[in-house]
Amino acid sequence: MQIADRCVAYFHYTLTNSAGEVIDSSEGRDPLPYLHGKGNIVPGLEKQLVGKKVGDKLNVVVSPEEGYGAHNPSLIQKVPKAAFQGVDNLEAGMQFQAESNMGPVSVVITAINGDEVTVDGNHPLAGETLHFAVEITEVREASVEEVLHGHVHGAGGHHH
Ligand code: ZN
Repeated sequence: MQIADRCVAYFHYTLTNSAGEVIDSSEGRDPLPYLHGKGNIVPGLEKQLVGKKVGDKLNVVVSPEEGYGAHNPSLIQKVPKAAFQGVDNLEAGMQFQAESNMGPVSVVITAINGDEVTVDGNHPLAGETLHFAVEITEVREASVEEVLHGHVHGAGGHHH
């Protein structure tokens, strides 16, 4: 069976950046399942998996535009510490949900200088070219319920 719309595919992967550093990997874990055609994984990877079958191994290079988006400097902002009322011990690396005109976004504190806090709303992998090494381990037909929900049920997927 080949990967196409309405298929659930399971794959092992190692994700590295352009410097060759491993960012994420399924090594030591179960393969990752996704429902094809529903945007469960980044578009640049999804489109390269069309027609693949169990046992296929491939290397896929995904541009930022087809990955987690370009790095957007306007999403880096300086805000006063007073904006974090009620939060003790502010430090770099802390994540918060912030309201934006595009809905809630996740921001991370990247620097604190005196009363000034720098927050970055970019995805951590924004602007990165993604290098995936992928091995397909299972392909099956999606259930009607999975297609309706737009995600995988069962092992490695949603439980509800
Ligand atoms: Zn569901």
